[in-house]
Amino acid sequence: MINLILFGPPGAGKGTQSAKLIEKYSLTHISTGDLFRKHLKEGTPLGKLAQGYMDKGNLVPDQVVIDMVDDKIKSSGNITGIIFDGFPRTIPQAEALDKLLASKQAPIKVLVELVVPEEELRTRLADRARKENRPDDAKPEVIENRISVYKSETVAVAQYYKDHKKYASVIGVGKIDEIFENICTEIDKSLLAK
Ligand code: AMP
Repeated sequence: MINLILFGPPGAGKGTQSAKLIEKYSLTHISTGDLFRKHLKEGTPLGKLAQGYMDKGNLVPDQVVIDMVDDKIKSSGNITGIIFDGFPRTIPQAEALDKLLASKQAPIKVLVELVVPEEELRTRLADRARKENRPDDAKPEVIENRISVYKSETVAVAQYYKDHKKYASVIGVGKIDEIFENICTEIDKSLLAK
């Protein structure tokens, strides 16, 4: 299995690039944000629980996210690999993911971070709020909280993968196709290395 993490702050372009990567590498896409939005739309208890956190731009508690990812992996059947998008967002989530994948003997090959300046993120999120009707992009204070939660809780995840020698970064500003090529170069390097 080729298991990868696309990492970066809200608005970095993870969703856009994941869509291209799943096609090129025949991967299954696990976006925890998308899964929560689906639960929310369907009005499930998990969706209702997550909504309170999402509306404020806070993280849903680790165990809730981990259980949802575990279920999703188990129900994915026979797959060739997974791209994780928006997960892991905390160290306990990264550790839990390692354990889940160890049981499949299919560890993460590489985490690729999309690096985007903060001002550009604010512009993109405000833009996305208009285009995609995402309530958590619409309020400036929620955007600010999501960026600040990213710094206080999520940035550490990049260091975790650096420590495990499974880290690469790509500039996330510029043409979508060029960014995509740069991500593919990093993924291909990691596939050759192991
Ligand atoms: P996203 O679409 O990835 O920006 O996620 C939207 C919202 O869903 C986040 O602001 C969190 O409230 C919640 N969420 C998504 N993924 C996670 C995660 N891995 N851990 C905790 N909360 C998450």
